[in-house]
Amino acid sequence: QPYGVNQLRKMFLEFFESKGHLAMKSFSLVPHNDKSLLLINSGMAPLKPYFTGQEIPPRTRVTTCQKCIRTGDIENVGKTARHGTFFEMLGNFSFGDYFKEEAIEWSWEFLTEVVGLDPERLYPSIYENDDEAFEIWNKKMGIPAERIFRFGKEDNFWEHGSGPCGPCSEIYYDRGEKYGCGKPGCTVGCECDRYMEIWNNVFTQFDNDGNGNYSELEQKNIDTGMGLERLASVVQDVDSIFDVDTIKALRDHVSKLANKEYGKDYNTDVSLRVITDHVRSVTFMISDGIMPSNEGRGYVLRRLLRRACRHGRLLGIEGNFLPELAETVIAGSKDGYPELEEKKEFILKVIAKEEEQFNKTIDQGLGILSDMIANMEEKGEKTLSGEDAFRLYDTYGFPLDLTKEILEEKDLDVDEDGFHAAMEIQRKTARDAREVTNYMGADVTVYESIDPSVTSKFVGYDNLTYESNV
Ligand code: ATP
Ligand code: MG
Ligand code: MG
Ligand code: MG
Repeated sequence: QPYGVNQLRKMFLEFFESKGHLAMKSFSLVPHNDKSLLLINSGMAPLKPYFTGQEIPPRTRVTTCQKCIRTGDIENVGKTARHGTFFEMLGNFSFGDYFKEEAIEWSWEFLTEVVGLDPERLYPSIYENDDEAFEIWNKKMGIPAERIFRFGKEDNFWEHGSGPCGPCSEIYYDRGEKYGCGKPGCTVGCECDRYMEIWNNVFTQFDNDGNGNYSELEQKNIDTGMGLERLASVVQDVDSIFDVDTIKALRDHVSKLANKEYGKDYNTDVSLRVITDHVRSVTFMISDGIMPSNEGRGYVLRRLLRRACRHGRLLGIEGNFLPELAETVIAGSKDGYPELEEKKEFILKVIAKEEEQFNKTIDQGLGILSDMIANMEEKGEKTLSGEDAFRLYDTYGFPLDLTKEILEEKDLDVDEDGFHAAMEIQRKTARDAREVTNYMGADVTVYESIDPSVTSKFVGYDNLTYESNV
């Protein structure tokens, strides 16, 4: 029996505890005191103050399994074997404590000895100039030079504007020929899913002054990140992150509701995987106090939830189906995240309300949009007008991205500037009227009735958003 997701999470944290690390609970998906980030997207993100020296860490060695959301990967979800908008990132961190040698050694020890992956299938990559990392992999770990891949700045140098930055070394796993794209030159670094990146080891050793001048940092740090789902997929030797134990249980549940077998039809599978992923995101986001709204995080949540609804429609699922899927998410993940169980009732209610709201109009909206598309095709037009897109948004609750996505499937696009202009006019009118309860087809007052005291505070109609207290 291969290790399960919940077991692997525990093994990772315990392994790094045995190496002197303090295991900390996952931080909230909502960044704390960080305006630069909408949602936490890596294990390192909530630890930034420790890296910059702004705050003193509780220990110089820390390990976490961090909930992450990457909406930037939304297009990949369901199409690649390795991307979700939600995933868990395992990480070990050193704040001026150990450096490259230990980081590399321990990552190898964990993968090959603790988890038992075949070393012959693992390939490290390094930053092209990082001879120090090369020496460690080659001399100390005994990896032949031809198995160590040197990549440029784009792939193997971690940097965000000015400040601490440095080279990284990633670990890839060869999942075998059957996953390869078959193109000549397909090897480590290829975009296909044969050589799957599983672990990124970042060595923050430089400070960039903002003008491209690098100086060695006095306090060198280690920041690593490994996707738990990806690790599980290679350990369990399955096709994708959607086939690992806990996520497969959820995917099977979606299959059952849709009455569609997985693995028979590509488009069906994409929809099954999209719903599976988005329900995970939505469940975790609400458990961290994010509420559906038209801005910021709340909009991301709304967009994911409505996108899941639409894929449900594509599969022929009728009525509300997301809350019971969220229950399966909770059952699969409460081991690592007891707050899911604690807030279960609240989470299910928020999802049910939002879905109900959207369900009232989605079929009508989809009908109107297909009329619009038919009309455009007749006239040979390629771009949907901003007013039409706004009507779908305002009356039927279609997030712009959803409209865009449906249009793209037909090789059409939308006048986004026109959309925003129409929205601005509506905003002004609304502000004047001071009475906006039915905005974007969603009655924003509905959440008040759930129990706003649980996690969030409604801050009024002006910005149509909820402020999280978490
Ligand atoms: P990829 O190149 O495959 O998109 P990445 O280089 O963007 O991955 P990093 O930013 O290096 O990923 O994040 C560290 C690790 O987190 C990755 O090695 C991977 O295991 C995991 N990871 C990153 N993005 C995702 C995702 N969307 N879904 C699941 N796991 C992810
Ligand atoms: Mg990526
Ligand atoms: Mg990468
Ligand atoms: Mg990477």
